[in-house]
Amino acid sequence: MLDELRELYQEVILDHGKNPRNFRAMDNATHKAAGRNPLCGDQLVVYLAVDEDGKVADASFLGKGCAISMASASMMTEMVHGKTPEDAERLFENFHTLCTTDHTPDAPEGLEDEVEKLEVLSGVRQFPSRVKCATLSWHTMDAAIKGEEEISTE
Ligand code: ZN
Repeated sequence: MLDELRELYQEVILDHGKNPRNFRAMDNATHKAAGRNPLCGDQLVVYLAVDEDGKVADASFLGKGCAISMASASMMTEMVHGKTPEDAERLFENFHTLCTTDHTPDAPEGLEDEVEKLEVLSGVRQFPSRVKCATLSWHTMDAAIKGEEEISTE
C-alpha cells in the first residue's frame, strides 16, 4: 500500500477512536453480545438489527477501552451495515487471518473496499498484545450472530 494511503487510513483510525460512530445502545436489536478483553481491560456490547431481507439494518456498540478497540468497533459497525450476517462473518475471518498470520488472504468478492480498510487496522499484528484489542469487536459481533451472549478473548 502507498505510504500516503496508509497515512490517510491511520488518520481515519484515529478519528474513529476519538469520535466513535454508532456508539449507542439499541432497543430493537435482534442480536446482541458482550465481549471482554481482560488483557487490556476493553469491554463492549455489540448490537445488531437484522431485517426481514436478511441484512444488517443497524449496528451499534457501547463500551469502554483503549483507542484501538474503540476505533475497531466503530469501523466494524459501519462496515457490517447493509451486509448479510454471512458477509459480516467473511469480513471477520479475513480480518482475523490478517491480524494473526503473515498471510494476506484474498478479499471476498464484493468486499474489496472493506478489506482494504481492515488491512490498515491489521498493522497491529506487529504488536501481538494489541491484536485482541483490534479483533474484540469482531469476535463479539461474530458471537452475537451465532447467538452467544458473552465472549472473552482469554
Ligand atoms: Zn485494548
